[in-house]
Amino acid sequence: MIEDLEQKAISLGFDCFGVAQPSLTKSVSKNLSNFISLKMHGDMQWMENRLSFRNNPKNLWPDVNSVIVLGVNYFYGQSPLSEIGLKNKAFISSYSRGNDYHKVIKKKLKLYTEWIHRRYGGEYKIFVDTAPVMEKPIAVEAGLGWQGKHTNLISKKLGNWFFLGSIFTSLNIKKEKEKVTNHCGSCTSCIDICPTNAIIEPYKLDARRCISYLTIEYKQHIPKEFRKKIGNRIYGCDDCLAICPWNKFARVTNETDFFPRRELNKPSLTKLLKLKDKDFRELFQKSSIKRIGRDRFIRNVLIAIGNSGKKELSHIVEKFILDKSPLVRAMAIWAMSQLIERNYFKYLRGKYVLREENLWVLSEWFKSNE
Ligand code: SF4
Repeated sequence: MIEDLEQKAISLGFDCFGVAQPSLTKSVSKNLSNFISLKMHGDMQWMENRLSFRNNPKNLWPDVNSVIVLGVNYFYGQSPLSEIGLKNKAFISSYSRGNDYHKVIKKKLKLYTEWIHRRYGGEYKIFVDTAPVMEKPIAVEAGLGWQGKHTNLISKKLGNWFFLGSIFTSLNIKKEKEKVTNHCGSCTSCIDICPTNAIIEPYKLDARRCISYLTIEYKQHIPKEFRKKIGNRIYGCDDCLAICPWNKFARVTNETDFFPRRELNKPSLTKLLKLKDKDFRELFQKSSIKRIGRDRFIRNVLIAIGNSGKKELSHIVEKFILDKSPLVRAMAIWAMSQLIERNYFKYLRGKYVLREENLWVLSEWFKSNE
């Protein structure tokens, strides 16, 4: 049965396959509980609220007897590291430059489960990064790879550029693959390259410091200590993934949906800043980026512009000082403070400060230029 399942998965375009039991090891549960109790999940309250589901797949669906885990390669042939720090060009994480992976992988998983159901019966639930499922440790148990010091999954045959999807099933499928042993060895490249020291020790990530978290998940004003370190990254950060030496085994994906869309590959910061609500929705219609919404997106673009050193962009940035969103107004003020002379900043403060009522935004007027 298992060879049959694997063959079909590969024929549908999955790049790796494995089966795990629906349980977590004690050490995984303990690490998860520590992560939550130390508040390293930041604002991601859903992690805390659904801890019992994450700790035990049976709590999520009592009928699950096996978990089929599948990987889909999204490597499009280029390391994005050379794009960090480009002036006037935005950096978007590689996984988000193509079409929304949730939709692409869900479609494949649906086809796959329909086929299994016709052949073997059983009930199914499919997940792609959308439910409280500990996908990475379960993928380790299924023999897909190991969790590297950066906490992401690494496969000996794909490197670390791949998505995970999982199928919970009532079928009892015998697990065949052994766990892959850890091959990080003495390497510390991902820890050393992290711009915000988010990997606080090997295998431990403090999400609150992670640029992916700050630019994608975090809904508030991004703390000042991280703004310069964010550089031109407006959606996610690939540094720890891109530096991993195991990527020498990565090969280009066959999934054309994951090739970068031209407009999302190093887009111009100036063009992004000019997007109206409607343009934002249109541009990101098929992309996972749309989920952060226009305000958070413009917040991120303003940080990147503040870091660009391009003084000539200040006249565009100034218009955002009166934006409807306090998130945007605050970062427009910060970006101005990075681009213009101190005296001109003081002049602008005099011009706009009395029109501002939001305390957080007001504090930017008085702290940004310190
Ligand atoms: S960069 Fe090095 S330490 Fe980090 S995950 Fe890859 S092999 Fe492991």
